[in-house]
Amino acid sequence: MEEQRIVSGMPSIEDVAEGSLRPRQMSDYVGQERVKTMLSIFIQAAKHRDAVLDHVLLYGPPGLGKTTLANIIANEMGTSIRITSGPAIEKPRDLAGLVTNLNDGDILFIDEIHRLNHSVEEVLYPAMEDYALDIMLGQGPGARSIRLDLPKFTLVGATTRAGMLTAPLRDRFGIIGHLEMYSVEELARIITRSAGILDVAIEHEGAIELARRSRGTPRIANRLLRRVRDYADVQANGVITRDVTIAATELLQVDALGLDLIDRRILETMIYKFSGRPVGLDTLAAITGEDAGTIEEVYEPYLLQQALIVRTPRGRIPTHLAYQHLGLPVPEEEAPKAVQTSFLDGEKN
Ligand code: ADP
Repeated sequence: MEEQRIVSGMPSIEDVAEGSLRPRQMSDYVGQERVKTMLSIFIQAAKHRDAVLDHVLLYGPPGLGKTTLANIIANEMGTSIRITSGPAIEKPRDLAGLVTNLNDGDILFIDEIHRLNHSVEEVLYPAMEDYALDIMLGQGPGARSIRLDLPKFTLVGATTRAGMLTAPLRDRFGIIGHLEMYSVEELARIITRSAGILDVAIEHEGAIELARRSRGTPRIANRLLRRVRDYADVQANGVITRDVTIAATELLQVDALGLDLIDRRILETMIYKFSGRPVGLDTLAAITGEDAGTIEEVYEPYLLQQALIVRTPRGRIPTHLAYQHLGLPVPEEEAPKAVQTSFLDGEKN
């Protein structure tokens, strides 16, 4: 269900054209200044010493540019990249097949690395630490293990849920980059760049308005851009203005903050059904028909970032901004003032 939402950060079938919009160089990668600076320094240092880049863990909600960054790292290091994902590596044998086929300096990108199974993870430890693979030969009492040297590779792991990584795995990454949601100005730059590649005419005000509705997420920005372009082509003269953006996104039931019907249903239920009392994750899951993990990973980060809800030890509470956004009077005993929580803080609750 999540994949079908127009404002989902998860990749969907219509994102196949994403490849052409993906920046190839660090200089084209908008925002995430801290992570970019850090990576640029480590990449330069590794190249200078002719060494292999340390293992990199990238975490943040879907669609923020983790895969893009992994490709850029390979590009800047001048090496090849092999892309796979946690669930695709079912057995230690699958991982062995992957790492033995790498060359020195290559990047192995494992998306959704928190979904690796335990037996595969165990094999990954020596591979990351010593560039070695321990292989068991034979079975029973006669079994013995031999150590196979591997090429010196860089593992780039991506996860939407840093809190779900086991400590031994997390500790083996030398570089950890936390991707943050993008500001409206950064998204407007991404949208303008994408419009240039897609040969779409867009006014600055149009790009800003679209950015406001993109939930801090480049993937959503690019997807909405294609939808709004269609609308502009058919209903207007092909130019994306602020008014065209508003009309097109409203048709898609995406509001001024980028919330869709499900987000609004979450907020309305918290306000009407629970009168602003703390609501547990499982209740929110039941309301939306999504699993608790998806709520935590996909819906909540943006509602938290926009300070529409806050987390308390007893559950989630709508803030006065949620009442205002839905055009409702803020109750007497005022809903909590917004406080910013970070993605990692949330993982611990
Ligand atoms: P993730 O791996 O985090 O789910 P991706 O790296 O696949 O996200 O990014 C989704 C799309 O968003 C990319 O195809 C790219 O076009 C765009 N994108 C992501 N980050 C940036 C950025 N910093 N600058 C420009 N475009 C970006």
